[in-house]
This record gives sequence, structure tokens and C-alpha cells, in this order.
Amino acid sequence: MLIHSKQGKVCIGLTALSVILIVTALFLAPSGKEKALEIDAELYTNDGVRPAEETALGTALYIDGKLIAVTKNPLDARSALDSLAQASAASWGNGEGVHSILNRVMMEKGYYKESLFVNGEELSALLGVSDGVYSNRIRNVFGDLLSIELEVQTKATAERRVSLPFETVRVNVPFLGDGETHTEVEGADGEAVETFETVTVNGVLVQTAVLSSETVKESVTEEVWQGVSMSLASLIERPKLELPYHGRISSDYGWRYVFGSLDFHNGIDFIGYDSSCYGDKVYASADGVVVEAKYNSGYGNRVVIDHGNGMKTVYAHLSAFLVEKGDVVACGDPVGKIGATGRVTGPHLHFGVDINGKELNPADYMDISGIQILS
Ligand SMILES: [Zn+2]
Repeated sequence: MLIHSKQGKVCIGLTALSVILIVTALFLAPSGKEKALEIDAELYTNDGVRPAEETALGTALYIDGKLIAVTKNPLDARSALDSLAQASAASWGNGEGVHSILNRVMMEKGYYKESLFVNGEELSALLGVSDGVYSNRIRNVFGDLLSIELEVQTKATAERRVSLPFETVRVNVPFLGDGETHTEVEGADGEAVETFETVTVNGVLVQTAVLSSETVKESVTEEVWQGVSMSLASLIERPKLELPYHGRISSDYGWRYVFGSLDFHNGIDFIGYDSSCYGDKVYASADGVVVEAKYNSGYGNRVVIDHGNGMKTVYAHLSAFLVEKGDVVACGDPVGKIGATGRVTGPHLHFGVDINGKELNPADYMDISGIQILS
């Protein structure tokens, strides 16, 4: 329209300088029909060539394609927009933070009629800002009220303390009655300080993001022991046992004479291949929890490991303990040393298998083929 026809005239008398200026002006020019409709009457020229009368170089401010006014110094427009964003955010209760106007804001440098010029203070007034308060009324330099729905986004960061709930670990133990529980370790919540960012638009929270979290107090995991049902346990497959010691079997499971009388031997006795096995390490036959590691008059120093599902293994007559009650052991972990404590005739390892309270033959749960049996 008017702009285009004027640009056409200028193109006739081209100079190298004006080519550069036109290219610059086209880059800065707003796009779309809206711009042309709004400004063709007001804008005298922006083609970079100064016309003869009553025009001056300035920066025009547009919001959503609507001309507000022109300022000599573009910083005046920038400052007025900052005040507008701040005042608008404050009107929504979000004074703190970094504010930005989401509407299409454009500043265009060019030669404008002097009647379009305002100073920074006047521009703020046109934008409806007075003493930091936003009136929600934006006018142009001619005093017309413009239908602009201002949208202001505010980004703010803050800190908050959050609770870190403790976890609970349940351990099946056979020495409690069925369904009975015992809290071995009391759980405790931890605490963290979170730094988070909120994004609001016109006072409405649109996004919250945690930027960082610092633990100030670790939580304590609660440990609850619970009695396991034997009937349920017996339904579950039991692990195959590994040998607790690599030696010879000096006394098998079953009836035998001990100290001159017939006695039932409720386990397997192991001794070494050479003259003495005293002090040799004894190993856990399967994964489990140590439920006993103490002296017992008949068995001497005895370790009992609970493997769950109603199965326990027994290591007796030890000279030393390498575990204590409550330890979690893996198959093959050393649990003690061979000794001669309790009712014995010499150093050896007595090894027993207990299934649901019955002392059964360990040979039924592990491979003893190839091991020399002395009696
Ligand atoms: Zn024995």
C-alpha cells in the first residue's frame, strides 16, 4: 500500500547505500497483513531515506502488531516494557522473579512523524503503568484504547525442605512364631533441600521443575524380622548345599557307639586329610542369615545358619567364630574354624541339616560322592 509505493519510488534512484538500508529495513520490518493495516496511516516512512519535513529517526514500538508510539532512544522502549512486565506480574501476585512478555513485541527503527514521538515516561503511561501499578489499559500515541491481552510469564526459583521416606526391609526368620514380627532397626525419614523453579503466566502456575536436591539427612532403612510359616516354607524348593569343608568323613549320619553306648548321630563329622584339621576354615553351605553363633554345652561353639524355607545348617565344635548372629552370609563365606569344643574325642567339624525342626541326613542335600568315609 502506501509503504510499498514509496519503496517503489526510492528503488528508481538507487544508490549503493540505500540498497543496504532497504535490505536492513526489510529484515527489521514486521511480517503479515496485520502490520500493514495498523501502521500504513501512521508511519510516514521507514525506507531509510529521510523525507523533507517533520520526520525524525526513532524506534517504533508494536505490541501484537499494534503501534504504541515512537521513542528517540530504543532503551526508553526497552525500559518501559520491563516496567510493564514487572507491574503486570505484580498485579497477579508474582512480583518476584524474571518476567517476560509473551505477546509479539517488536521495535522498528526508522524515520517517523514527530507527532508519533513520546519520551520514556509518556510511553510507560501509554502502556498503562503508573507508579509501578498496571491499569490493564494500553493506549496508542493518539489516545486510542487498544485491545491487547497482555500475557506475562514469570520464572522464579525457591527452596523447600522435603521428607525422604524410609524404606522397610522384611527378613524371614524361623525363630519367631508364625506371623510374629520384631522391629530390629527402627526406620527414620531423611530430609533434603530442593531448589525448584516455577513458571507462571498471568499468575497461573504452568510448570514446576526441581533444579537440584541436596540431602541434609539420610533416611534409615527399617528392618523388620517376621516369623515364616513352616507349612508355607516347606512348599518352596530348598537350595542344594555345598560342602562346608573339604576333608574326609569320620562319622556318618545314623546310629553309632559313642563313649561306649549306642547313640544317634544327627549329622556328619568331617576331619582333614592330614594329621590335623584344627583351625581350618569352615564355609557356609548356602546363602543365609546367621541365627546363632555361641557356645552350647554339647555342640561347643556352634554356628547355625537359616537359609529360609524352613532349612538351617549347623556347624559345631568350632575353635573360633568368623561370624556373629544377624550376619548375612553367602554360600562359601567362612563362618568359623574347626576345633574340639563341647562333647568330642578330638578336633572335627560336626555338620547338621535341620528341616522344619527335624535333623535330617545332610547327604540327602549335598553331593558327598567321592569323599572318603572312615566309619
Ligand atoms: Zn557329629
